[in-house]
Amino acid sequence: MRPFARALVLLALLRPTALAAQAIDSLALRGHTFFLAHDLLEGRRTGRRGGDIAALYLATQASRLGLAGAGPGGSYFQDVPLIEAAIDTVATLLTLIEDGLAGPVRTVYGSPRAFIPNAGNARTLTGIEGDLAWVGSAARILARPQDLPPLEGRITVMAGVFGPNGAAADTLRSRGAVGVLQVPPGADAYALYAASRGSTRLYPDDPTVTSSFVPDLPAFLVHPSLAARLVPPPEGDSLPAPRAIPGRRIHVALGLTPQPRRARNVAAFLPGADPARRSEVVVYTAHYDHLGYSTPDARGDSLYNGFSDNAAGSAMLLALAQALAADRPPRSALFLWFTGEELGLLGSDWFVARPLLPLASIVAVINLDAGAPPAPPAAWNIQGGTRSTLGMVAADAARAAGWDARIENASPNSDHFPFLRVGVPAVFLVPAPRPFEGLTNDASQALRRRWDRYHQAADAWAPDFPFSGLVRYATFALAVGRAVAEGPWPVMLR
Ligand SMILES: [Zn+2]
Repeated sequence: MRPFARALVLLALLRPTALAAQAIDSLALRGHTFFLAHDLLEGRRTGRRGGDIAALYLATQASRLGLAGAGPGGSYFQDVPLIEAAIDTVATLLTLIEDGLAGPVRTVYGSPRAFIPNAGNARTLTGIEGDLAWVGSAARILARPQDLPPLEGRITVMAGVFGPNGAAADTLRSRGAVGVLQVPPGADAYALYAASRGSTRLYPDDPTVTSSFVPDLPAFLVHPSLAARLVPPPEGDSLPAPRAIPGRRIHVALGLTPQPRRARNVAAFLPGADPARRSEVVVYTAHYDHLGYSTPDARGDSLYNGFSDNAAGSAMLLALAQALAADRPPRSALFLWFTGEELGLLGSDWFVARPLLPLASIVAVINLDAGAPPAPPAAWNIQGGTRSTLGMVAADAARAAGWDARIENASPNSDHFPFLRVGVPAVFLVPAPRPFEGLTNDASQALRRRWDRYHQAADAWAPDFPFSGLVRYATFALAVGRAVAEGPWPVMLR
């Protein structure tokens, strides 16, 4: 069956869903993503010309929909002053010093081949030196801190990154660790990190703006082949137990050339229909930045267009604004397109530190950054939903439409996280990794394999990409937004 014929059958089978889907303009999603993911925008890199053009486009479209600028003086922009530090690969070196029979043996490794500085800030992007200690995974550090060896003055070596267990970095630092070497699960994962981090590091040009993402400890990602010389051998199927690593010492030198760079968040406001509730605001968020130019892929393509990540989410916010402006809910809506997400939640951390409206007036935050599903999802993960009653509101909205929903913990993997950190109910709506509507598990997996190009140069707009999945994603976000714009004010649970 051709896709169009199948769509007609689905339409007949799924009348209530199909009717709700009409509120989202599928051609708008197609058109906005076409522009935002275009080569001329050069991957919408934070603080670069392509990123600035994307911000201008979003502001222009918001203005065309009749939304008001929510920035200073009625502008659509919030400046985010940053420092961009270029990594000098000649001066950035890791030296492994091993005890030998005839004295210390030094082996020097270069970047980005063997290691890269992870995301950091003015305090943590620094060289380190020390003896080594293996500490296992972040989850284990938190679960069994009593197992850790003495860490005073040592460089710790860990499995993976901190992820949702950011507190593990505080444990290491409080025990005197001077830094951490992070070992990704394989060479592919290392390559993905290297391409995603790129050749510069950005951080706020204001040390009082705290990060939701960057560990408060110098952190370096190391290639598994280097890590094999540092990590004790595995014990059966499990990671080796934490221990000091004798006979080896590491020195990391980091060469950086910092310069100021200004990026911008885009902010647009739609007043609520009920004057008594106009000061109560539902916030919709999506980051519009992507990676710009980075490591070339096998075809020699080094331009990371970021169609799915996150032209898709940015376009969904415009489609939501269009639907809500045509039928305004009682409470107001604020649309925030963040910069700097890919580089460590820079735009959302800045907004939470310098909010354009009182944080206490925000009823809920709905974040969209999970890519463009290549077919309509019938199940959702409500990330961060365990932290407030907003999780139940979102799950109920899914079930009312006949879809499944699972409420999950929060992770600092996108722009909802900074809001949770300051006590504002926030969820990140994510299509669940389950069969798409009307498709078998195998057919769904085949579609995902065909279109999933997460953090690859090939994540680009394609004329044959099926937009029905993105329509469904935006339809769900609209249902959650309408429920919270009319219903009780969600409360934090913990
Ligand atoms: Zn993203």
